[in-house]
Amino acid sequence: MPELPEVETTRRGLVPHVEGRTVARVLLRRPDLRWPIPREIEILLPGQRVAAVRRRAKYLLLDTQAGSALLHLGMSGSLRVLPEATPPRPHDHVDIVLGDGQLLRFNDPRRFGCVLWQAPGETHPLLSKLGPEPLSEGFSGDYLFDQSRHRKVPVKTFLMDQTVVVGVGNIYAAEALFAAGISPLRPAGKVSRERYAALAEAVKTTLTRAIERGGTTLRDFIHPDGAPGYFEQELLVYGRDGQPCPRCGRMLKQASIGQRATVWCGVCQR
Ligand SMILES: [Zn+2]
Repeated sequence: MPELPEVETTRRGLVPHVEGRTVARVLLRRPDLRWPIPREIEILLPGQRVAAVRRRAKYLLLDTQAGSALLHLGMSGSLRVLPEATPPRPHDHVDIVLGDGQLLRFNDPRRFGCVLWQAPGETHPLLSKLGPEPLSEGFSGDYLFDQSRHRKVPVKTFLMDQTVVVGVGNIYAAEALFAAGISPLRPAGKVSRERYAALAEAVKTTLTRAIERGGTTLRDFIHPDGAPGYFEQELLVYGRDGQPCPRCGRMLKQASIGQRATVWCGVCQR
């Protein structure tokens, strides 16, 4: 599943090809993805210049004067910039044809992604209740400490709550908690201010490193036959259930927390 670093990598890959271009037309090969594609995409987007390609949480926004196209990659979506004449392949559901002979093509085999519309000056309901961006200044140890008082949920569940902070998925929550030495099972309200400072730093470092690694795949990103912009991660605990802890050598534990598989070290993480 594309996590925040993949979405940010996608955004950076799109910027030089899409920003400043004018949409010539939009081609929908089906009326819906996860949700129906609103008529504004076909009616209002053509003729509009894309002023900016932004990211909020795992959503991408193509900003125009008429409004913003709001895209989410879901479980299996990818976006690529291709020559306009490129024949569609299976699951190529949406083409946004740009005026310069290229098009932006949305492929999504499982169709959990979406293409929606945000009117100018409005915030789409999907974006209205989101917490701060993890790489923004608003996200800090003090912020996590203040938000977590009297919260009994496990700290991992708290960290993955999109109203607390956006874009910290299962992989990055597990990795950041390991880096900060915090047990994922610890109640969120029982983590000290100092330890939340370490956790906020770990989240920022983990995501930043992943985004930097993602930059190396940008070459593939615009290649017609290239893989979408997902990339191999250097993971210390995620997916390493039953293997030795890279720090102390004891066996890593696994349990389900908030219905998500979680791996951690019972010695290094308290
Ligand atoms: Zn350990």
